[in-house]
Amino acid sequence: MNTDRFLAGRHALVTGSTSGIGLGIARALARRGCSLTLNGFGDADAIETHRQELEQLADAPVAHHPADMSVPDDIEAMMHESAEARGQVDILVNNAGIQHVSPVASFPPERWDAIIAINLSSAFHTTRLALPSMVTAGWGRIVNVASAHALRASPFKAAYVAAKHGIAGLTKTVALETAEHGITVNAIAPGYVETPLVTGQVEDTARARGISEEAVLRDVMLLAQPTRRLVAIDEVAELAVYLCTPASASITGTVLPVDGGWTAK
Ligand code: NAD
Repeated sequence: MNTDRFLAGRHALVTGSTSGIGLGIARALARRGCSLTLNGFGDADAIETHRQELEQLADAPVAHHPADMSVPDDIEAMMHESAEARGQVDILVNNAGIQHVSPVASFPPERWDAIIAINLSSAFHTTRLALPSMVTAGWGRIVNVASAHALRASPFKAAYVAAKHGIAGLTKTVALETAEHGITVNAIAPGYVETPLVTGQVEDTARARGISEEAVLRDVMLLAQPTRRLVAIDEVAELAVYLCTPASASITGTVLPVDGGWTAK
């Protein structure tokens, strides 16, 4: 793993980084020397422990902002405070996301609104607020954490699939608008990732069906994922880091699957 501190002096804001993929991306960026704004919900002591750990890794300031990504005024406050504290946001990672599973006819309208707000509209707000200073600096990286569901649908996930397809469209549009300004905009499209959320589901399903966790993964959850194993958080996080390297400067407007072959089918 490349641990070169090539991002020292850069500031990254990662939404939804108190857990799972967002925390993994924050850790990977911290290992490259980035200062960070974390965001997300959770136990205050646990968040403070992560903040201190990341500050040590980065050897640079790490702050946490509790903005609710479904509330545009909160997002605006976070973006302004983050830019004020660190000069500007150089790297924006739009990762916060939630899920709700239900047939479309009985999909609760308030869950639809929340998923569109958190998984899609929040990225519009952070992006529009981060871009002016990236353009002035002539450098910026926007990494949107989408999903295989940005490229494929599954039943009962209408809001999630719509939001993730929307993120793919937002990614391509902003990439075109910023291509001449040293800014790249890409989406990562993970399949099932080994986050606490998913591993909890494996344990519960194994218990409910009376089969092993390996069987749940192979025969139930990962039918769509040809590798038949969960994607590791670091496999997603290291791609986010790569998208911040000079070598990736011509990669923009893409939706990059990290899905064990799911979308090859
Ligand atoms: P997670 O539940 O572990 O983390 C979600 C993060 O978002 C947490 O930090 C949470 O506090 C934060 N969050 C939720 N609602 C928020 C709100 N209103 N305001 C601010 N923060 C909020 O989930 P994860 O699995 O790490 O998912 C992260 C992203 O990756 C999501 O966009 C998800 O759609 C995407 N993704 C996950 C998987 C997977 O298998 N886990 C696969 C593909 C895509």
